[in-house]
Amino acid sequence: MIDTATLRDKARAALTRCGVSDLDGDVLTARSPVTGEPLFGIGGSGDVQSAVASAREAFLQWRNTPAPVRGALVRRLGQLIGEHREELADLVGIEAGKIRSEALGEVQEMIDICDFAQGLSRQLYGRTMPSERPGHRLMETWHPLGVVGVISAFNFPVAVWSWNTAIALTCGNSVVWKPSEQTPLTALACSALLDRAIAETGAPAGLHRLLIGGPEVGEQLVDSPDVPLISATGSTRMGRAVGPRVAARFGRTILELGGNNAAVVSAAADLDLAVNAIVFAAAGTAGQRCTTMRRLIVHEDVADELIDRIAAAYRRLPVGDPFDDKTLVGPLINEAAHDRLRAALTQAASEGGQLLAGGERELTDDASGAFYVRPALVRMPAQSEIVRQETFGPILYAMTYSTLEEAIDLHNGVPQGLSSAIFTRDQREAERFLSADGADCGIVNVNAGTSGAEIGGAFGGEKETGGGRESGSDAWRAYMRRATNTVSYAEELVLAQDVSFL
Ligand code: NAD
Repeated sequence: MIDTATLRDKARAALTRCGVSDLDGDVLTARSPVTGEPLFGIGGSGDVQSAVASAREAFLQWRNTPAPVRGALVRRLGQLIGEHREELADLVGIEAGKIRSEALGEVQEMIDICDFAQGLSRQLYGRTMPSERPGHRLMETWHPLGVVGVISAFNFPVAVWSWNTAIALTCGNSVVWKPSEQTPLTALACSALLDRAIAETGAPAGLHRLLIGGPEVGEQLVDSPDVPLISATGSTRMGRAVGPRVAARFGRTILELGGNNAAVVSAAADLDLAVNAIVFAAAGTAGQRCTTMRRLIVHEDVADELIDRIAAAYRRLPVGDPFDDKTLVGPLINEAAHDRLRAALTQAASEGGQLLAGGERELTDDASGAFYVRPALVRMPAQSEIVRQETFGPILYAMTYSTLEEAIDLHNGVPQGLSSAIFTRDQREAERFLSADGADCGIVNVNAGTSGAEIGGAFGGEKETGGGRESGSDAWRAYMRRATNTVSYAEELVLAQDVSFL
């Protein structure tokens, strides 16, 4: 197992190469879930008010910069991220405990969204509509909003920032970022790279500001009247606090909150494919993705075979040091996450659940601050309370069904609505799941797991997941305001709906 001194050296080296100077301080202590120990104290980055004020000033200039020129900034950011891929992946591994391929995958997502945003900089299209009046033109134009506040969660410490920031900057906004207090180092590194891209491309300084701190710093950002859009990613609990506060001042939100994602596995499924997809989606990232598969709804004819195969795969999963190439499941983020996982397993047992694999702490003695857990598979009765909750760790609840209607009812019968999947080779079943009275989530997949979305699509979910959309497709519209324009080139005044006046 890698030790804390090595992690500390790795982190310092990565930060230095990314251009972070002036590191040490006492605002926050950076920790690693890999060993559960503190790494070093880091300094703050100024107060919320001055960060917003300088971002606002930069915005006033940036909004008049042609969009394709803005795109050049995001292109440079993507290049710099690519040049620092290894260092950034080191930091993601150190702070979030991700295994190497997932940490590299998260960095790749940043590069991909920068590519996307650069292309978008020439495609911020508005529509032209036929006017009902002669000599008139009706069209819409899109303008930036102002300062975008980004609040992000620990489990995607950099990808979520990049989805928001690459698109917000391309749309002509400036950004103030409040990363998770669990992952300040990745934030410092990304912010330094963006500062460098800003300086190299001649964009206004202050276009991006970083706020290091906990929820109280997030709250100040949320309440700032000069931040027209708050894009907040985290728990539903956080969204419940943030949403009404921003709404009270008529600000806008993009809320990306908790998920409780399920897969339906039909009797017509390719079980080999389903097992691999389910194990990745449920156990990968130690169950700490918003899109992690948490519920399995299996047809009764194939349930025993499928569940046995998943249990066998779970028992073989290499759990441990995320810096070891053979590891597939790294640590939980902290002790509180482990406590919540144990409490959920206790409740599941009290509701008739049968633990088939995993759930126990591994590798470390009780005194250690690191929490490694073998992913848990629990067979549950269809109706139970615990399966309605998101427990942010590797627990998969397996339930059975007999008709597709019943499966869809079970699937939709939870408060969250992020990601869903059906495994079937029966096209009718697949189409039914994709239809309006099928799965009620923002992401609905066929023969692909619930996690691992591409940046090209709009990402987000319904119900208590918050309704926001980020990343690809036309998610950019949430970062802009729309103006509808009527232009008359008629000789006389013509009123709509044939109204005559004067
Ligand atoms: P969290 O809610 O504890 O914290 C998320 C962020 O919100 C942090 O930066 C935190 O400081 C800030 N915050 C918390 N309370 C706040 C408040 N009242 N005002 C302003 N800011 C506040 O979440 P976490 O433990 O870091 O992340 C795990 C959760 O995030 C899970 O529920 C997961 O499903 C969710 N998540 C959702 C998505 C998505 O796209 N839907 C993506 C990643 C994570």
